[in-house]
Amino acid sequence: MAIERTFSIIKPDATRRNLTGQINARLEAAGLRIVGQKRKQLTEAEAKAFYAVHAARPFYNDLVAFMTSGPVVLQVLEGENAVAANREVMGATNPADAADGTIRKDFAESIEANSVHGSDSPENAAIEISYFFAGCEITS
Ligand code: GDP
Repeated sequence: MAIERTFSIIKPDATRRNLTGQINARLEAAGLRIVGQKRKQLTEAEAKAFYAVHAARPFYNDLVAFMTSGPVVLQVLEGENAVAANREVMGATNPADAADGTIRKDFAESIEANSVHGSDSPENAAIEISYFFAGCEITS
């Protein structure tokens, strides 16, 4: 199987509740290696650009406000089929639909404040990683 990289964000609802370590333990238990990580307060411009694909959605402004409401932890994760492996351990977007044992089932507060972001394809992972990380900030 292919070793690949994916992009992850620990969202403001989770950093506010000091859950970074617990979420990282879930990621590592799922076979993912954290090969890049930094804590950052997103600017409004950064959040808007990152979620530009959702600009037409009714929740876009709320989502941008939420993502800038506190610090986030930006991560590059590496492992076998990392994109799919991370989506699996994250769980469904809406925690009400998330499977038992997933991060969102156990930690998310709502469909918006759902604790983590994970890339949905290897192509988007590459775009998202390069948006937030320089190559020299990632070490396998
Ligand atoms: P993801 O790939 O599972 O994160 O889901 P999406 O790409 O569809 O949505 C991006 C993010 O927008 C989600 O993780 C949520 O934080 C937020 N979001 C998605 N759907 C809704 C919604 O119906 N209402 C609100 N308020 N936020 C949403």
